[in-house]
Amino acid sequence: MKRISILGSTGSIGTQTLEVVRNNKDMKVMALTAGSNVELMERQIREFSPELAVMRDPEKARELQQKVADLDVKVSAGMDGMIEAAEIPDADIVVTAVVGMIGIRPTIAAINAGKDIALANKETLVTAGHIIMPLAEEKGVRILPVDSEHSAIFQCLQGNQKNRIDKILLTASGGPFRSWTKEQMKNITLDDALHHPNWSMGHKITIDSSTMVNKGLEVMEARWLFGLELDQIQILIQPQSIIHSAVQFMDGAVIAQMGTPDMKLPIQYALCYPERRALPGERLDFAEIGQISFEKPDFEKFPGLMLAMQAAHIGGSMPTVFNAANEKAVALFLERKIAYPEIAELIAEAMEAHSYISEPSLEEILDTEMIIRDFVDYRYKGRNAQQ
Ligand code: NDP
Ligand code: MG
Repeated sequence: MKRISILGSTGSIGTQTLEVVRNNKDMKVMALTAGSNVELMERQIREFSPELAVMRDPEKARELQQKVADLDVKVSAGMDGMIEAAEIPDADIVVTAVVGMIGIRPTIAAINAGKDIALANKETLVTAGHIIMPLAEEKGVRILPVDSEHSAIFQCLQGNQKNRIDKILLTASGGPFRSWTKEQMKNITLDDALHHPNWSMGHKITIDSSTMVNKGLEVMEARWLFGLELDQIQILIQPQSIIHSAVQFMDGAVIAQMGTPDMKLPIQYALCYPERRALPGERLDFAEIGQISFEKPDFEKFPGLMLAMQAAHIGGSMPTVFNAANEKAVALFLERKIAYPEIAELIAEAMEAHSYISEPSLEEILDTEMIIRDFVDYRYKGRNAQQ
């Protein structure tokens, strides 16, 4: 029996993880956490009977407690509750499917408790990879990628030695604005940006995919997961999302993982690793597809990607600054408070103003996040006051 704790069970990755559980009779859910979606959490508890359910919002936790008073489930709240879910005894693996840096502390708690991690929450590795990867090694736990590109790379590496990698080809669809002109991109609306051509995902990552910030975060995620130098990671635009990523080895062989876009594959692979199990769904028909095309990324058109690469090269606390500024700016864009180009502008301003820390501790990472969130809020209010 595989016993699983899911952090962020009501989201896109969380609900698809539960679909995988539904299709695998030897999987059992031990704990579920969510932000505020009480209705869906109640349905999930009734179907999957976890021992623990957590709402980040204490008011929502009280509401949930009343709704499930007839069941034998403990309800907890807040960050303490998320950490309790991450450490829950008897779970073998924790799926980190919350969105944003909020995942750092529960992920560290899960590793300290000896749980394997099925990692979707890339923001955690981007900001605290230098703490998490050595800790995972020390505790002997596996960090199994759920992000489709990283799962693809992980699959390509099976049976091969990591020290024989020449480079990895990190593929990207290019998002909805790949073929828009810079002029057209000035007037992008929220609805335009929420329309991803190939994947259906949570709002934050959908915006990040449209700005290509997501690919920048994935470069940093890949660097930590596979222990690579930045110049060993090449971003490659592959608009049809058929090649999920590839590895070029020292002998020139390129091994790629392909398939239809379906997050249940990387989720199931992470949960069952090293076993590969059956998964129903559409299959690729290459003769029908005809051709797969490739392009170089356009760093000028996507300033968020350029800033991500700068943050990655500077390292230290700069990826935290980049990520926290992006999280806050995207939240403002989702609330229709700023225009699309302002996302990258606010990130640039935050990076410009930051005093760099070379090896930030966990406290310094979390402090930097707070400072940057306030900074972006202040700058946004300043911009509005001028208008
Ligand atoms: P969603 O927004 O769909 O889901 C986020 C989950 O986290 C929900 O359960 C939500 O609860 C919970 N949550 C949100 N805010 C908080 C908070 N402040 N405290 C505690 N819990 C919170 O996100 P996705 O599933 O799309 O993404 C999750 C992670 O996986 C991200 O890091 C993303 O980058 C990564 N990822 C996602 C992919 C995808 O296909 N969706 C692909 C690859 C990576 P509630 O529903 O109550 O708000
Ligand atoms: Mg991805």
